[in-house]
Amino acid sequence: MDISVKAPAKINLTLDVLHKRPDGYHDLEMVMTTVDLADRIDLTEITGGIRLQSTSGFVPFDDRNLAYRAAALIKERFGITKGVNILIHKRIPVAAGLAGGSSDAAATLRGLNKMWNLGLSTEELGELGLALGSDVPFCVQGGTAIARGRGEQLTPLSPPPPCWVVLAKPPHGVSTVEVFQALKMEKITTRPNLEGMLNALDKKDFDQVCEQLANVLEGVTMATYPKVRFLKERMATFGAEGVLMSGSGPTVFGLVKKESVAFRVVNGLRGFCRQVYAVRMLGGLKENSLE
Ligand code: ATP
Repeated sequence: MDISVKAPAKINLTLDVLHKRPDGYHDLEMVMTTVDLADRIDLTEITGGIRLQSTSGFVPFDDRNLAYRAAALIKERFGITKGVNILIHKRIPVAAGLAGGSSDAAATLRGLNKMWNLGLSTEELGELGLALGSDVPFCVQGGTAIARGRGEQLTPLSPPPPCWVVLAKPPHGVSTVEVFQALKMEKITTRPNLEGMLNALDKKDFDQVCEQLANVLEGVTMATYPKVRFLKERMATFGAEGVLMSGSGPTVFGLVKKESVAFRVVNGLRGFCRQVYAVRMLGGLKENSLE
């Protein structure tokens, strides 16, 4: 049986770093939600090992690819001797703060669970996925959630009010590891107000969601890449109602209520940035929308 799975990008509505742990990871507190900018993963059973193809030359084609590693993990853990060809139709920009690789890994886990009738629950797939990356457990379940710990302790939330999300990805990629290394905990002055964001989501108050957007990594990435600040300012000027950098960056997103305004922002940004998208917020759709 061949299977095609959707791997949507995520954005962070809030991102807080609580402290550095003895194991080197940071304890995080984030509100994440999926958006309708997605890779598609086609899985085809083959005899033997794992083959990987991608429509983008910017991803690794060997066992450094997170989708490849997801398949290897499943094969090893469940003693599967059959092989799989993984074809990644890449739309999510790479090293962008949108969890593209993690979402490919999560989609591969979901797809192989089905293809090989493993009967694993979303929670079990998330636990497996944590070994591949901190954002994988969230990507397995999708929707909207608070993510704590490394990102694996998930509390589902009511979705953001329906709106448009404009995404602008500067030409350079950012290494998440380097951003965390550059973060000085004592220099964090303003932190997200989690209660404020939860309240805004609960009330489906678009203006309040926009007001509560906050990411403590933004200043760190901006210090090296001033283009992030520049794009935020431009997005606001062209009409985005709330603007923030996603994850460790460098992608900047803007929330917009009206479609016409979203496309005005996209057109305005095109002169400054090649990779610009207007997509719908996905946080409200049910899990099976990931099929
Ligand atoms: P996050 O928001 O989870 O930190 P990101 O959006 O910043 O992730 P990715 O697009 O996942 O970053 O890419 C990070 C690194 O992972 C890149 O250097 C890339 O080479 C590698 N990578 C491995 N597999 C994939 C994949 N399937 N798609 C994209 N990048 C991948």
